[in-house]
Amino acid sequence: MITIIVPCFNEQESLPLFYEEAKKALTSIGQPYEMLFVNDGSRDGTLAVLRNLSEKDDKVRYVSFSRNFGKEAAMYAGFCHAKGDYVTIMDADLQHPPAMLEEMYLAIKDEGYDIVAARRVSRKGEPPIRSFFARCFYRLINKISNAEFVDGASDFRMFSRKAVDAILELQEYNRFSKGVFGWIGFQTKWIPYENVERVAGETSWSFWKLLLYSLEGIIAFSTAPLAIASVIGVIFCLLSFIGLIVIVVKTLIWGDPVAGYPTLACLLLLIGGSIQLSLGIIGQYLAKTYLETKRRPHYIISETNETVNIGGKQV
Ligand code: UDP
Ligand code: MG
Repeated sequence: MITIIVPCFNEQESLPLFYEEAKKALTSIGQPYEMLFVNDGSRDGTLAVLRNLSEKDDKVRYVSFSRNFGKEAAMYAGFCHAKGDYVTIMDADLQHPPAMLEEMYLAIKDEGYDIVAARRVSRKGEPPIRSFFARCFYRLINKISNAEFVDGASDFRMFSRKAVDAILELQEYNRFSKGVFGWIGFQTKWIPYENVERVAGETSWSFWKLLLYSLEGIIAFSTAPLAIASVIGVIFCLLSFIGLIVIVVKTLIWGDPVAGYPTLACLLLLIGGSIQLSLGIIGQYLAKTYLETKRRPHYIISETNETVNIGGKQV
C-alpha cells in the first residue's frame, strides 16, 4: 500500500484541487493507497474540507492538531500514522507534481532504492536574494555537518517501510527533516523536476522564518559553531599575549610616552563582542538541550476520522 502524507496549514482552496490530482495519479498506479492529511492547526476551513473528503472517500484519513505545531511536527505525525509500505510526503499546494508518484514508486519497488527524492533543478519564481542565501546555507552546512544536504532537495520524497522505521527512530524534539532524511542514509535516487507556482493560497514561509529554520538545521546537525567559538577565543588569547609582551618590552626600552585609549577601547569592544558571540552560540545549544530534555510530545491531536488512543481514551 502507498501512503501519501499531506501537511496542511490554511489550504482550503488548494485541498480539493490536490485531492483530485493525487487521486488521478494514484489510481493510474493501480496499487492500494491512502491519503493521510495532517491539519496543522489551520485557521481557515481546511478541517471542514477534510471532514468532507473523508466522508466521501474512505481512502482519506486525517489527523487534526490542536494548534499550529509547524510542518516538521506535521510530517512526523504523518510518519507515525502512515500504514503504507511506501510512504510519500507531499505539499498540499500542488508544487509537488503527483504525476511523479509512479516513477518514485517503481524506483523503490523495482530498482531497489529505499528513498526517492524530487530535486528542484531551478529556483524559478523565487526572489533572487532567497536563492542566494539558500545556496550559501547548503554550502556551509555540507562543510560542517556529517549528514548529506543536497541543494534543491525538496520534502517531496517516497520512502520504503525500512526508511520510515529509521526516521521514526529519531525522536528528537527539534526536528530538521532535511537533515534526518540525509542522516539515516540508504540508497537515494534523485529525480529532477521544475519548480511550479502554488495553485492557491500563499506560502507560509517568510524570509525571517526560513533564516531561523536554517539556523535550526545547523544547530541540529553540527557542533562546528561551538568549535569555531573556541577557536576564536584561542586566537584572541594568543594575540593579547603577544601584545602584552610587545608592550612590556617597549615600556622597558623607551618608557611609556602616550596612553593609547582609542586602541584600548577598540580592543575591549572586540574582545567583549567575541565573548558575547561565543556565549550566544553556547546558549543556542543549551536552549535546544533544554527543550529536548523536557520530552514534550511533538504534537497534540484534537480530532481524527478514526478511533485512536488519545491520552488512554478511545476517541
Ligand atoms: N505547512 C504546515 N505547517 C506550517 C506551514 C506549512 O503544515 O506551519 C504545510 C503547507 O500547508 C504546505 C507545506 O507545508 O502543504 C509547504 O508549505 P508552503 O507551500 O507554505 O511552503 P513553500 O512551498 O513555500 O516552501
Ligand atoms: Mg508550497
